[in-house]
Amino acid sequence: MNAAALEAFLKDVARDVGPDAVNVSAETIARYGENTMPGGDRPPAAVVTPSSTQHVQAIVKAANAHKIPLYPISTGNNIGLGSRSATLAGQVVVDLGARMNRVLEVSERLGYAVVEPGVSYQMMHDELVRLGNRYMVDVTSGPPQGGVIGNALDKGAGYGPYFDHFGTACGMEVVLGNGDILRTGDGALASDTPTNWHTSKYSYGPVIDGLFAQSNYGIVTRMGMWLMPRPPAVRSFHFAFPDDGDLEEIVELCRPLKMSNFVPTLFRLANDLYLCGSEGESPEYRANPRKAMSDEGRRALRERHGLGAWTVSGAFYGASAEAVEPMIRRVRDVFERSGKARYISHEEAQAIGPLQVAINAFSGVPSHGELGLLKWRPGGGNTWFLPGTPMDGKVANEFQALCRKIYEDNGLDYMVMNVCSARFARGLHVIVFNREDEDERQRADACYKKMSEAVASRGVFVGRAPIDYHAFHMQQTAASFQGACNGIKQALDPNGVIAPGRYGIG
Ligand SMILES: Cc1cc2nc3c(=O)[nH]c(=O)nc-3n(C[C@H](O)[C@H](O)[C@H](O)COP(=O)(O)OP(=O)(O)OC[C@H]3O[C@@H](n4cnc5c(N)ncnc54)[C@H](O)[C@@H]3O)c2cc1C
Repeated sequence: MNAAALEAFLKDVARDVGPDAVNVSAETIARYGENTMPGGDRPPAAVVTPSSTQHVQAIVKAANAHKIPLYPISTGNNIGLGSRSATLAGQVVVDLGARMNRVLEVSERLGYAVVEPGVSYQMMHDELVRLGNRYMVDVTSGPPQGGVIGNALDKGAGYGPYFDHFGTACGMEVVLGNGDILRTGDGALASDTPTNWHTSKYSYGPVIDGLFAQSNYGIVTRMGMWLMPRPPAVRSFHFAFPDDGDLEEIVELCRPLKMSNFVPTLFRLANDLYLCGSEGESPEYRANPRKAMSDEGRRALRERHGLGAWTVSGAFYGASAEAVEPMIRRVRDVFERSGKARYISHEEAQAIGPLQVAINAFSGVPSHGELGLLKWRPGGGNTWFLPGTPMDGKVANEFQALCRKIYEDNGLDYMVMNVCSARFARGLHVIVFNREDEDERQRADACYKKMSEAVASRGVFVGRAPIDYHAFHMQQTAASFQGACNGIKQALDPNGVIAPGRYGIG
C-alpha cells in the first residue's frame, strides 16, 4: 500500500473522528492480525474505531479519497472463520464494536431489539434479563462475546425457532461503499420516524438487505432483530446411537419431526469427537500426532462421557415441564422404535458438559463450553468447513464416509455436528489442528480443500467460509454469479474500498 496515502487517510480520520480513533501500535496490529486458520496471520495497516454512523461515513469517505481498503468487524470473534483478521493483510480494520455497542431499543410489545455492531450475545442476553427476562435472544454455541450483527451478516445461525439470524434480522442502516447512508425495509421511507422499520421484513421494492450478507458492499451500523418470548419451561431430549453408520437412520427419524414442525428447535446431531472434543485434549495426539484418533480411543471417550457415536439433541417449550412431557414421550416413541437409541433425559443431560451446551443453546443462554474444542490439539488451530446435506439419510451417510476418510487421510480427527432442519442439514465440520506445526497446517488446508472439491463435484456448496477460502470458493461459482456480484460492487462501492476480496468479491 502507498504509505503516503495511508498517512493522509489516517490524518483525515483523526481530524473527523478524533485522534483516539486511530491505532497503529505494534501490539494492536499484531492482535488484529491473529487468527486460527492455516493460511497465517494478516496484520492490518491500522485499526480505526468509530463511535457513530457519521464517523463510519467519514471513514468511508476518507477511504474513497485516498483509495484505502477497509475491513469492518463487529466484535471480531468469528473464530475459525477469520477472527478479527482482514481478508488481506494491509487493509485498515474498522472495529465498529469497540465504541458502537449500545442496545438502542427493546420493544417488549412487539418483540424486537435494535442494536449497534458491538452488541454481543452476552450483552443482549444480560439486557433482556435486566428487563425482566420476558424475551430471549437466539444464541450461537460459539463465543458469548460474538456479535449479533456480525453473526447475522455472516449468515450465522442458532438452534431455536429463531435460528436463522439473518432471517430474523429486520431493518438495517448501512453506510455504502460510496459513502451514502441507506436504510433498508420500511426504513427506506423518507421519514425521520419509520414506524415499521424493525417489524416489517419485506417492504416496498427489492429486498436490499440480502446484499449485505456475506458481501462487501457496505458497513452495517444498526440492525433490528426479532426476539422470542421466553417460555416458562424448556425441556431438552437426547438420544445416543452406538455406530457411525447410524447416521442414515437418525436423519430419516429427524426429518418428519422437523417437517411437521412437531419439534420446534433444530436437531443438533453431533458425532462423538465433536462433543467429547470440548472436554479436554486428545488422549492420543501427543503419542501419535500424525494420526486420527483410533476407533478404540473414540469408544473409550464415548463411554467416559456417556455419549454415542452420534448424539441427537432437541427441545420443547411449554408452560411447565409436565405440559411438555407428552411431546417428549412421542419423540421417544419415534426414536426408540429404532432399537438402537439410548434416551438421555433433560436432567441427565445437565450433568454432561456438551449436552448442557445444547440446553443453553435451546434456552437462549450464551455459554463457553464449546470453545473447549479449540484445545483438542495443542497449537490453537481451528477452521470450519460448512457444507449442506439434504435431509436424506443415504446421502448424509455417503457424505459422512467421504469426509471422515479425508480427515483420516490427513491425520486429523473427524468432528462434525449436523444441524438439521426439515429438508437440509448444515454440516458444521471443525478442523482442529496444531497451527505451530507447519506440516499439520498444510494437512488442515489440504483437508479443507479436498472436502470442498469432493462435495462440489456432487453438487454441494458451502454456506459460509473461512476468509482463507473466499477466493477459492468464488472460483467454484458460475461466471454469471461472479459477474453479478462484481457488478453490484461496482455500483455500490466504485472505488472498491470495503473489504476487497471478502467472499471473493472485488
Ligand atoms: C466453538 C465455536 C462454536 C461456534 N458456534 C457457532 C454457531 O453455533 N453459530 C454460528 O453462527 N457461529 C458459530 N461460531 C462462529 C462465530 O463465533 C460467530 O459467528 C461470530 O461470533 C460472529 O460474530 P462477530 O461479531 O464475532 O463477527 P465479526 O468477526 O465481527 O464479523 C464477521 C464477518 O462479518 C463482517 N462484518 C461484521 N460486522 C460487519 C458490519 N457491521 N458491516 C459489514 N460487515 C460486517 C466481517 O467483515 C466479517 O467477515 C462458532 C465459533 C466457535 C469457535
